[in-house]
Amino acid sequence: MQRRTILAGLAALPLLATIRPGFAQETAETIATSGGDIGIHPVMHASLALSFGDEVFYLDPAENSFEGLPAPTAIFITHAHGDHYNEENLVRLAGDAVPLYVNEDVFSKLPETLKARATAMKNGDSATVNGIAVEAIPAYNITEDRKQYHPQGVGNGYVFTFADKRVYVAGDTEDIPEMRALIDIAVAFLPMNLPYTMDVTQAADAVKAFKPAVVYPYHFGDSDVDQFTTLVGDAAEVRIAAFYPATT
Ligand code: ZN
Ligand code: ZN
Repeated sequence: MQRRTILAGLAALPLLATIRPGFAQETAETIATSGGDIGIHPVMHASLALSFGDEVFYLDPAENSFEGLPAPTAIFITHAHGDHYNEENLVRLAGDAVPLYVNEDVFSKLPETLKARATAMKNGDSATVNGIAVEAIPAYNITEDRKQYHPQGVGNGYVFTFADKRVYVAGDTEDIPEMRALIDIAVAFLPMNLPYTMDVTQAADAVKAFKPAVVYPYHFGDSDVDQFTTLVGDAAEVRIAAFYPATT
């Protein structure tokens, strides 16, 4: 299958570096479904947006402005770590009415104003958000010396069903059995950075198991995504997107 590099020359940068104005709008691309296109909008590290029809879903907005993107119609948070959840920014982005879907730990931390319109999703829970089905997939570490970072049962990944296409945003996880068992995934966003998630070999091995059509590395820091692409080979189309600012 085709491999594509959208932005070459990604460099190791401090996580959550200041975003350049307009950064989020530079790399929107689409995945076709039976009900129109899904827009893919990488923002920064673990932060991204998915658009479909009138819906604009923000994921893990952390500190990022999402400048250049339409206002969200719903916001999803995988877990409470600072590169995924930032209360002040969430209050700002959520405005007066945007619904939130979060794991139970984040729910417990939300200010009361947001809690009133938030839904806590446990691993395995499902919801329908403005007509779009969403499932909460477990996200956790399985390597002994990493279990401290993401204990089983706390964090979520999410699978969204947009018309006939399923999009998986994995959250902070390793190549857990629940990931390997996923079926019919059109697009997967997989984390790869140590020590918090998994290495590129694990991530590529998982891709060969659940066979998403397209896979985006995200939350990858200074991981060697070119090596990931090589390891995946023909198992999926790997897309390297602008999750980190260019250095030039
Ligand atoms: Zn984390
Ligand atoms: Zn993280």
